[in-house]
Amino acid sequence: MAKFVYDFTEGNKDLKDLLGGKGANLAEMTNLGLPVPPGFTITAEACRHYLAHGSPPEGLADEVDRHLAALERAMGKRLGHPDDPLLVSVRSGAKFSMPGMMETVLNVGLNDESVRGLAAQSGDERFAWDSYRRLIQMFGKTVLGIDGDLFEDAVEDVKEARGTKDDADLLAEDYRELVGRFKGIVRDRAGREFPADPREQMDLAVAAVFDSWNAPRAILYRRQERIPVDLGTAVNICSMVFGNLGADSGTGVAFTRDPATGQQGVYGDYLQNAQGEDVVAGIRNTVPLTELERIDRDSYDRLLEIMETLENHYRDMCDIEFTIERGKLWMLQTRVGKRTAGAAFRIACQLLDQGLIDVDEATRRVTGGQLAQLMFPRFATGEEVGDVTRLTKGMNASPGAAVGKAVFTSERAVELAGRGEDVILVRRETNPDDLAGMVAAKGVLTSRGGKTSHAAVVARGMGKTCVCGAEELDVDVKAGRFTAPGGVTVGEGEVISIDGSSGEVYLGEVPVEDSPVVRYFEGGLTAAGGGELVEAVDRIMAHADARAALKVRANADNPEDSARARRFGAAGIGLCRTEHMFLGDRRRLVEKLILAEDDAGRRAALDALEPLQRQDFEGIFEAMDGLPVTIRLIDPPLHEFLPDITELSVRVALAGDGADPQDRRLLDAVNRLHEQNPMLGLRGVRLGLAIPGLFSMQVRAIAEAAASRRRVGGDPRPEIMIPLVGAVQELEAVREEARAILDEVRDATGVDVPALIGTMIELPRAALTAGQIAEAAEFFSFGTNDLTQTTWGFSRDDVEAAFFSRYLELGIFGVSPFETLDRDGVGRLVRIAAEEGRRARPGIKLGICGEHGGDPDSVHFCHEVGLDYVSCSPFRIPVARLEAGRAAI
Ligand code: ADP
Ligand code: MG
Ligand code: MG
Repeated sequence: MAKFVYDFTEGNKDLKDLLGGKGANLAEMTNLGLPVPPGFTITAEACRHYLAHGSPPEGLADEVDRHLAALERAMGKRLGHPDDPLLVSVRSGAKFSMPGMMETVLNVGLNDESVRGLAAQSGDERFAWDSYRRLIQMFGKTVLGIDGDLFEDAVEDVKEARGTKDDADLLAEDYRELVGRFKGIVRDRAGREFPADPREQMDLAVAAVFDSWNAPRAILYRRQERIPVDLGTAVNICSMVFGNLGADSGTGVAFTRDPATGQQGVYGDYLQNAQGEDVVAGIRNTVPLTELERIDRDSYDRLLEIMETLENHYRDMCDIEFTIERGKLWMLQTRVGKRTAGAAFRIACQLLDQGLIDVDEATRRVTGGQLAQLMFPRFATGEEVGDVTRLTKGMNASPGAAVGKAVFTSERAVELAGRGEDVILVRRETNPDDLAGMVAAKGVLTSRGGKTSHAAVVARGMGKTCVCGAEELDVDVKAGRFTAPGGVTVGEGEVISIDGSSGEVYLGEVPVEDSPVVRYFEGGLTAAGGGELVEAVDRIMAHADARAALKVRANADNPEDSARARRFGAAGIGLCRTEHMFLGDRRRLVEKLILAEDDAGRRAALDALEPLQRQDFEGIFEAMDGLPVTIRLIDPPLHEFLPDITELSVRVALAGDGADPQDRRLLDAVNRLHEQNPMLGLRGVRLGLAIPGLFSMQVRAIAEAAASRRRVGGDPRPEIMIPLVGAVQELEAVREEARAILDEVRDATGVDVPALIGTMIELPRAALTAGQIAEAAEFFSFGTNDLTQTTWGFSRDDVEAAFFSRYLELGIFGVSPFETLDRDGVGRLVRIAAEEGRRARPGIKLGICGEHGGDPDSVHFCHEVGLDYVSCSPFRIPVARLEAGRAAI
C-alpha cells in the first residue's frame, strides 16, 4: 500500500518530489542530528490524489492518526489538550518554492480551553492569548479565505484604545479581546464558528494547503516560472516552538553567505520576542543577525556551527529559518539559497577552492542565463548614483539598464527618438499597436501584466530593457503622466531610469556603466585585474571550453563584428549574411541590376558590385584568419532593395507626365516584384537560379578575396552556403556554377583556395530529403529561424506581437519557439536531417545558425544531436561557450 506520510526521521533531501523542498530538508536536518522540532510530512502524492478525486486517498486519515499519536508520545503532550497542549504548524511545501500558495498556519491546537493550559504551562498569559489570536487570524485568512485587513484593522483598533502603536505594549487582556473580535469576524465572514476541535483545525488546514495548489496566484506563478502544473504540494505538520516567550526568545532568518556577493560571513535578521512571519513581515524592526552574539551568545555560537555544518553538507550556500525558545535554538527550514548571478560565479569558485566541489560541479552550478545577466550594462551603484528618487519596483521582465524621457504613446516615442532623444515608453500595458514605440524606446515600463505579458515577451525578443507590472504606478496615458507611491507625479519628458534586472524604477538619471565581464571578454580587463567576479568567470569559462564538444561560431557580417566575435572566443563565422552588403550607396547598383533589360546591362551592374563585395570579404577573412567563415549567398527577396511602393507611386503620380523615366521603370519593377508572401517568395537559391550571374558574382568575389589574402600570407577558410534549398536539384545547379567559378579564379590567379560548398537546412522538405541533399553538400547549417517559421507555418514578424503573449498565457508554448528551439517539432526535423546527412556523407559538418545558437536550452539540444557547432550573435558567444561546456559535463 502506498505510503502517504513520512516522519521527519524517515525522509531525506533527495525526496523533494514526494516531500516537497521544505519537508525533504527538514528530514535531512533531522537526520543530521540538528535541532528540528519533531513532525511529519504528508506527501505530494496524497495532494495529487486529493486534487484529482476531490477527496483524500484511502488510508491517509489512518496514517495521519498513527503519526500524530507517535508525535504526541514523543512530545509527551496531546494535540490541543486543555492542560498542556501540543501545538503544531501546518506548512505547505512544494518541490519548487512557490509564493502564491497557502502560507503556514501556526499554533494549531489552541481553543478556549487549551489556551489556558498553554498559559499555565508557560507561566505567560499574554503569550498564550497572543498565540491564540494569531491562530484565528492565520486560519481565517488562509484556510477560510477572509480578507486579512479585517483582522489587522481590529488590531489597530485595540492599539488605539490602549493608546499605543506598538504590539509590545498590548497586554494579555487586549489579546483576549482580540480573540473575541476575531471569532466574530470569522462568524460574519465565513458563516461558521471558528473550529474549536484541534483535529478539525489541522485537517481543514491540510485540505487548504492542498487546495492552494490551484489558487489563481499559484497557477500564474507556475506558468511564469515554467513549473509543471501537476506536481502538487506536500504538507508539513511540525510541533510548535515559540519565539514569542519573552526577551530570551525570538525568530530569525539567515544565509550562510551573502547572497548578493557570495562573501562568507553572518548575514541575516533577528527579531526578539516574535513569532514566525514577523521577521519578514516588517511589522517590527529586526536587528542584524550579528547582534544575536550580544543578545544570546550560546545560541549564536550554536547557529554559526549549524550554518557551517549545513554548508559542508549541502556543499552550497544555504538559507535558513530558525527560532529561539527561552535560549534554545530550533531549526525550522533550510534550502539551497537563491543568489544573484554574480554571487553564483563567486560561490562556485569559493566552494571549489574550499575543496567542497570539483570544477565540473562548479561549472554546472552557473548558467548561461546568469552569465548573460552579468554582461548587460548596469546602473552604477553606491555614491555615483547621484540625485535620483526610487519610485517603485515592478517585475524584472527583460534585463538591462535604460535611461530616458518618459513618453506615454507610441507616436511620441517614435517622434522624440527620431530627434535623437532617449525615451522610455510608459504604458498601462502594451499591445501590438505599440510596437513602433517599443522599437524606438530605450526601455519599456508598464504598470500591468506579468512576465508573459505582451510588453515582456516582445521586449525580451528585442533584447530591450523592460520592467512590467509595476502595480504601484498609476499610469494616465491621456494626461501624459504617472503617479508613484507617495504622490510623486512624473510627466512626459521627465527623465526616468529603469532596471530590467531588478525591476527598480527611479526618477532621474542613474549613470550606466559597462559590465566588467564584457570588458574582460573584450580584452580591456585581465582576469586577475578584474576582481573576484571576473576571475571566477575566467576560471569557469576555461573549464567549459575544455569540456565542450560543440564549437561556437559567430553570426557576423563585417570586419568589426568579426574581430569582436573573435575576442569573445568565436571559433569562426557560422553565418556571414551578404544582403547588408547591398545597402546604402550600393542600392543604386542593385536597382540597375534589377532594371537591366539585357545580359549586357545585368553584367555591367554585377561587374560594378563585385569589387565592393571583394573588399567586404577580404576584411572579414583577415579578422578571422585561420578560422572558417561561412558566407551565405544573398537570401532576401530583391524588392527589399527597392524603394517603398507607396512612396514611389505617389512620387510618380504627383509628377504626372513629367515623371522621371527611371522612376517609372522602378515602379514597374516594384509592381512586378511585389509578393503576397515574401517569406515564401522569390528568395534564397531561387534568386540565384532566376537571376543569372548573381550568385556567380558573389562566388567570384569570395574566391578573389581569398586568393588575395593568400598572396599576402593570410589563411582564409571560406565556406560557401546556399540558402533556402528544398531539393537537391537546386543545390546541384548552383554548385556546378560555383565550382566552375572557383576553378576559373584559381586558373586566373594561380592561387588555389579550397572552399567548401554547403547548404542551409531551413525548409521541412530539405530536412526530410537530407540524405539526397548531402550528396551535393559538404556541410549543413540549420537555419532554425526559417525552419521554425516554415514548420509552424507562421511568419515571425507578423505573429510575435500579434498573439504570442496570448499563446504563452494559454500555455500553448512555455516559451516562444523563436527563443528556444521547439524540440518536438523543429528539433525532430533537425535530428532526421542530421542522421540522414551523416549516413549519406560520413563526417559532413553540421552546424546551426539563427538566434537559437545563443539560447542555453537550444545549445544543449545541439549537443545532444551531436552537431559540430552553434553560431550566434557575437554578444551571445560567451553564453553559448559556457552552455556548450555544461552540456558536455
Ligand atoms: P514559508 O514557506 O512561507 O517560509 P514556513 O512554513 O517556513 O513558510 O513558515 C513560516 C514561518 O513560520 C517560519 O519561518 C517559522 O518562523 C514559523 N514556523 C513554522 N513552523 C513553526 C513551528 N513549528 N514552530 C515555530 N515557528 C514555526
Ligand atoms: Mg519558511
Ligand atoms: Mg533563412
